[in-house]
Amino acid sequence: MQHLASYLAGSWSNGAGQPTPLVNPATEAVLADVAPGGHDLARAFAFARETGAAELAKRTFAERGELCGALAKAIHGAREELIALAIANGGNTRSDAKFDLDGAAVTLSHYAELGQRLGAHHLLGDGEPLQVGRTARMAGQHVWASRRGVAIHINAFNFPAWGTCEKLACALVAGMPVISKPATATALVAHRLAQLFEPLLPPGVLQMLIGPAGALLDHVTPSDVVAFTGGSATAAVLRTKLAGGARVNIEADSLNAAVLAPDVDLSSEAGNLFLADVVRDMTQKTGQKCTAIRRVLVPEARLADVCDALKDRLAGFAVGDPSREDVRIGPVATAAQLTDVRAGIARLAAATDSIHGGDGNVEALGAPNGKGYFVGPVLRLAKDAMGTSVMHDHEVFGPVATIAPYSGEAAFAAAFVARGQGCLVSSAYSDDRDWVASFVGAAAPWAGRLYLGSSKMASQSPGPGTVLPSLVHGGPGRAGGGEELGGARGMQLYMQRCALEGDASVLKTLIG
Ligand code: NAP
Repeated sequence: MQHLASYLAGSWSNGAGQPTPLVNPATEAVLADVAPGGHDLARAFAFARETGAAELAKRTFAERGELCGALAKAIHGAREELIALAIANGGNTRSDAKFDLDGAAVTLSHYAELGQRLGAHHLLGDGEPLQVGRTARMAGQHVWASRRGVAIHINAFNFPAWGTCEKLACALVAGMPVISKPATATALVAHRLAQLFEPLLPPGVLQMLIGPAGALLDHVTPSDVVAFTGGSATAAVLRTKLAGGARVNIEADSLNAAVLAPDVDLSSEAGNLFLADVVRDMTQKTGQKCTAIRRVLVPEARLADVCDALKDRLAGFAVGDPSREDVRIGPVATAAQLTDVRAGIARLAAATDSIHGGDGNVEALGAPNGKGYFVGPVLRLAKDAMGTSVMHDHEVFGPVATIAPYSGEAAFAAAFVARGQGCLVSSAYSDDRDWVASFVGAAAPWAGRLYLGSSKMASQSPGPGTVLPSLVHGGPGRAGGGEELGGARGMQLYMQRCALEGDASVLKTLIG
């Protein structure tokens, strides 16, 4: 059996202690194990602060972008091998695995190009020069400079490749060395990435701790950055632990909503897009996407038709061992996940009616008898859209969504989005520009991203669940209040804004 070592301080460290097994969630067969600790983390931090930081400081944005480009190529080169690992250890179907891995490569490529565009410089300009003296000679210019510290990246189990690479790309181009910690349960993909990336990066630029965090956060100092993705309970622990001053970015739970506007006929392109997006988000990665639609709001008059259409589509999804070609929904990633999802469904069942899937019990294709963490897609109906608290308060991180009726008013739809107390993304489907304008004005403060589905964009849309490197990812309130990606905005987490004052022509040369 493979033992997963961590890549720290320029070498592979096996760690020590009773190992934790990593399993195939479809069969529960043990695939690998990992030590609970026993690594010299103080040395890893020192290596990043000294060697890694110096390597990045001597490279320009363009040169750091080239590093991202090399990593994207490495993912492409090992794509089949990585897909196989994601299927075995993540419960991913082949399509789920590609979503994670291709997303990782696309994001690295995006930052490779951005680095090229920013060119042979070290300072990122922020806005236009300002006249701050009596004449234009005396100017002010805001700039971003790389922070002098370590970026600690802690990722969730659901996107071992994309999660690792989207954070890494931003930090690398910004000029901060990284210690990355993937979630333990699905670490096989991230571990392989660390092996592939090792020969492509200068020493100290990327280190990876495989296994539990242990004392990782005890080494964090105020000049460091911690970027975390995971559950809100873990986020709360981190916020307390890191109250000492390091910059902290949190991507946490999110009860994303999808709203159908009253102008949309289900047979129209916008109507079809809405149905396809809801079904994709419930089923892709077995619903284990932070951006997945959890709450659906439809006009009262269309409720029966929407329920029938979703039922029909969901009935076509086979659940089972994701290594089989006929399976479209794999297991959830861990036994703990299965327990959580089942508890979430039971909580919803106490306040809602079943439309599809009952309590999620399912006969899994190709799974050994009694084995595997399977749950089928579950759609519930809440008659009172605002009053059914459970659909707004608890994220069920699996193939589960709840639908509710409304009058069709844009203000109500925005209030429904807001009821989730802050989300990563919500979507509205309408071809009525006045309705859209009213909705966006009221819903935007509650979402990191609003996806506006319509007939005109339907044929080009990747759906609300796809995070694009050019747009920010994060959300207010319950979603953690963090922000990642968004082109150069994503680099700012790893940089310090500094206001420069001086001779206008000197300032100009500094940022090119
Ligand atoms: P989790 O249990 O909170 O774990 C997330 C990460 O935190 C893992 O790497 C975990 O390591 C680590 N961790 C746990 N305790 C820690 C501690 N005391 N100190 C430092 N690190 C610690 O979340 P998960 O179950 O992996 O992911 C599911 C959750 O993530 C869902 O709620 C989902 O909404 C959220 N999520 C959010 C986004 C987003 O972008 N907003 C994206 C994906 C997922 P171990 O695995 O070793 O325990």
